[in-house]
Amino acid sequence: MDSLPTVLLKPGEADRIVAGHPWIYHGEILRVTQRGGGDASSHVSTTEASRLPADGELVQVKDHRQRFLGVGFFNSQSKINVRVLSPERVEVNERFFEERIRVALAVRQKHLPEATSFRVVNAESDFLSGLIVDKYGCGEATDEPPSLRLGAPRPAREDARPTKNGNDILVVQISSLGMDQRKAQIVGALQKIFSPRAILERSDVASRKFEGLAEANGILSGEFGQRTATVECADMSAPSSTRHVASSESGGMPPQSKMFVNLNGLKFETDLTGGHKTGLYLDQQVNYLAMAKFANGAQVLDCFSFLGGFGLHAARAGAAHVHFLDQSAEAIEASKRNAAANGLAEKCSFEAVNAFDWLKTQTAVKPHEKVVPRFDLIVLDPPSFTRNRASVPDALRGYKEIHIRALKLLKTGGTLATFCCSHHVNAATFQDVILSAAYDTRRLLRRVATYSQSPDHPIIPMIPETEYLKGFAFEVVRCKSE
Ligand code: SAH
Repeated sequence: MDSLPTVLLKPGEADRIVAGHPWIYHGEILRVTQRGGGDASSHVSTTEASRLPADGELVQVKDHRQRFLGVGFFNSQSKINVRVLSPERVEVNERFFEERIRVALAVRQKHLPEATSFRVVNAESDFLSGLIVDKYGCGEATDEPPSLRLGAPRPAREDARPTKNGNDILVVQISSLGMDQRKAQIVGALQKIFSPRAILERSDVASRKFEGLAEANGILSGEFGQRTATVECADMSAPSSTRHVASSESGGMPPQSKMFVNLNGLKFETDLTGGHKTGLYLDQQVNYLAMAKFANGAQVLDCFSFLGGFGLHAARAGAAHVHFLDQSAEAIEASKRNAAANGLAEKCSFEAVNAFDWLKTQTAVKPHEKVVPRFDLIVLDPPSFTRNRASVPDALRGYKEIHIRALKLLKTGGTLATFCCSHHVNAATFQDVILSAAYDTRRLLRRVATYSQSPDHPIIPMIPETEYLKGFAFEVVRCKSE
C-alpha cells in the first residue's frame, strides 16, 4: 500500500479531508510523488508529467508533514484531482465495493424499511464519490416479502429470472473516472448483493466531461426490453479497457424502456433508460407520504407534476380531486396512465401547460375583482431554477412569482406544500421568499411541516454538497380581504 503514488497537501489543506470531505482540488496539492512516495527524497514536481500517477489510479494522500490521510482516485483532468475513498489503507477491488454497498444498503434498511424502490448508493453521502445506484422494484407492490425487497441473500441469478420476486432493476450512474474504470467490479458487487433482473447504466450526465469522460448509457448486465448485456461484467480477470458492456455506441437502448415501478405501493410507469434522473424522483419518497396527510377531502393542485408523484399519493389518501400540471406532454400522458393503473383516474384531471402561464391566467382579474381561492392543497415542486450561485437572484424571483400566484388560489385553512431542489438556495432563503410572497398577498402562514430529501439520499453536513432538497408545508391562517 505504501507503494501507491502519493499526493501531498499544502499546509492548512488537510483539515477538511481529516473531517471527512472527499474532494481535493488541484490548488490544494503541494506535490505528487511517484510510487514509494512515503520517502521525502523521492518527491518530484507535478510538472514531471511522466512521473504522475495515471488518471483513475488509486493514490495515497498525506499532509505536508507526511501524515497519512487516506486513499482515493486520482484524475489530473478534473478540477477535483483526488476523490478520497477511505481514511484507511484499503484495497479497492470487487470486495471493497461489495462491503461499501452493503453498508449503504443497511442505512436504507434502517431508515426506509418498507421501501421497494430506493437509492442504494448516493455518491459522497455513502463515501463513494462519483457513484449512484438506484434500485427499482418492478413487481407488484405486495409481491415482495421484506426479506427479498431489502437485498437479503437471494437465489443465484439463474433462479431469479423475471419472476415476481426477481424483478429489481438497478440503475447505475457514474460521474468520476476512478469509478468508471472499475465499473466491472461495481457491477460484480451489485450482482452478488441484489441478483437483479438487469443493471442499466444512465451515465448521461454533463458533469462527466469534467472528468474526461463521454456520456454512456446501456445495459451492464441481465435482460431489459428484450435485450441482453453483450458481455457480462463479472469477468474481473480482463483489464478494464477490454471489459465491454452494451452501450449506446454498441447497440443503443432497448425499444421497450418503460415499465411500472412500485413506489410506496403505487405504480409509476417509468422510463428507466431515458427519463429524468434515473427514472423517478426517489428523493421525494417520504415527502409524498408526509404531504398526503393534508389531502383528505381536498381539492388538490399538483404543479410540476412529472409522473404524478405528489398528486397520485394525494388521490390515494382521499383527495376529492387532483389537477396535474406539467409542461411536458409526455409526462402528462404517462401520469394519466399512472392514475388509471392505480385506479385513481376518476378523481384526476391533467393539463400539459407551462405552470407559470397557467397560474398567471388563473390569477388574472379585472380591477376590483378578486381571485376566488379554490384549492385546499397546492404542491409546488419545480425543477431547480438555478445551476450556480450567479443565477440565484433570478431563481428567487421565479420562486416568488409562483408562490404569489399559488397563495392566491389557496383557500384560508388550505395547505401549500412547496419544495426547492437547488443546492444554492438554502432553507432560510427559500422560506424568506415564501414569506415575501405571503406579505405581498396579505396572507399569514403557519408552518406545519419541514421537509428534506428522503433518507436514501443521506446528508453528511461535513459535505455540504450532499444537501440540496428542502421544503415546507404552510397553512394559510388568515387572508386579509383586499
Ligand atoms: N414533482 C415531480 C418532480 C418534478 S420535476 C415528482 O415528484 O416526481 C420538474 C417537472 O417540472 C418536470 O416534469 C418538468 O417537465 C416540469 N416543468 C419544468 N418547467 C415547467 C414549467 N414552466 N411549467 C410546468 N412544468 C414544468
